Amino acid sequence: MTQILVADDDAAIRDLVAQVLKGDGHQVVVAPDGVTAWRLFREQRPAVVVTDIRMPGKSGLELLAEINRLSPATAVIIMTSHASMETSVEALKNGAYDYLLKPFESLELISCAVRRAVDRVRMHEEREMLVAELSAKNEELERLNGLFRELAVKDGLTGLYNHRYAQESLVQEAERAARFERPLSLLFIDIDHFKPFNDNYGHQAGDLLLKAVSATLQSLSRKTDLVARWGGEEFLVIAPETDAPDAIVFADKLRRAIAQLALRPRGSNEPVGVTTSIGVATLGRHAGTPTGLVMQADRALYDAKNAGRNVVRQAMDFVDTTTTMRRFDQEDSGIKTA
Ligand code: GH3
Ligand code: MG
Ligand code: MG
Repeated sequence: MTQILVADDDAAIRDLVAQVLKGDGHQVVVAPDGVTAWRLFREQRPAVVVTDIRMPGKSGLELLAEINRLSPATAVIIMTSHASMETSVEALKNGAYDYLLKPFESLELISCAVRRAVDRVRMHEEREMLVAELSAKNEELERLNGLFRELAVKDGLTGLYNHRYAQESLVQEAERAARFERPLSLLFIDIDHFKPFNDNYGHQAGDLLLKAVSATLQSLSRKTDLVARWGGEEFLVIAPETDAPDAIVFADKLRRAIAQLALRPRGSNEPVGVTTSIGVATLGRHAGTPTGLVMQADRALYDAKNAGRNVVRQAMDFVDTTTTMRRFDQEDSGIKTA
């Protein structure tokens, strides 16, 4: 049932209109003046208002303006006499939905005008609901799009960048480094004796270890570094603006921090430690291409494993006269190359 507010200082008209509308099945509230009408409007929020223009306290036009400001969707029908046609034109200009001429030629006109007004209000409400639904769906779509974008570049377990994204980034970073003649280093990190850890404490514990190592790598890297899960228990850190000596310092910082992690897998009373071996290579000094860089870092990692694990090893110097990257060659930093 729709609520209609009828405002008129003439009791006879007020009651007549109210009766007609009640007969049409509406719920009707009446007001004898503009001030009461405004109060009732705010309290009850009727869908449609039928109001006289000239009323004590607050005129129909003032009431219309206030209702429009508070609730633009409300339909306001003005009741006016032939003598004040100009005012009703002004009311229409100011957003009134319709007008009724007094004295009423036929009561059916009141019913019709109100019925159309109610229909309009309902349509407006439905449209609002549809718009709200649509924008909620759009938001959900945006959220899912973001999620898919993230899934495409991130590793599900650790939240680090995935292999493919790391590869693409490395190519781009290598190009940037060469173009602007800036250093670029690569860290290849592998967890030591991960298989026995998995065997002793189970895969779930292994996964938690991978997450803990990932979090440590991420927290100690710069925002400009890219930390990726390269495969099973292998990680890659792309470190732009980092030359060979700095890369060694960085890698050793990571190695030491991970060696200090104390894990408590189920089935172990004692905290369990974990170590990593890290191979480091720098563009221009150890390799001339992104692929070469990965190979050199991998080889250095292999040397680190052979050296007994829990160590950092740097790739062997290379001299490539065909590439401009040679100009990044550093003085021997004193760090033992593998
Ligand atoms: P090393 O010190 O020489 O690196 O020995 P390792 O045992 O770490 O190396 P290996 O390559 O033999 O074993 C890697 C293990 O990593 C084997 C595999 O089951 C495990 N692994 C790979 N991916 C995952 C994973 O997503 N979750 C868990 N829990 N284990 C994984
Ligand atoms: Mg390993
Ligand atoms: Mg491995």
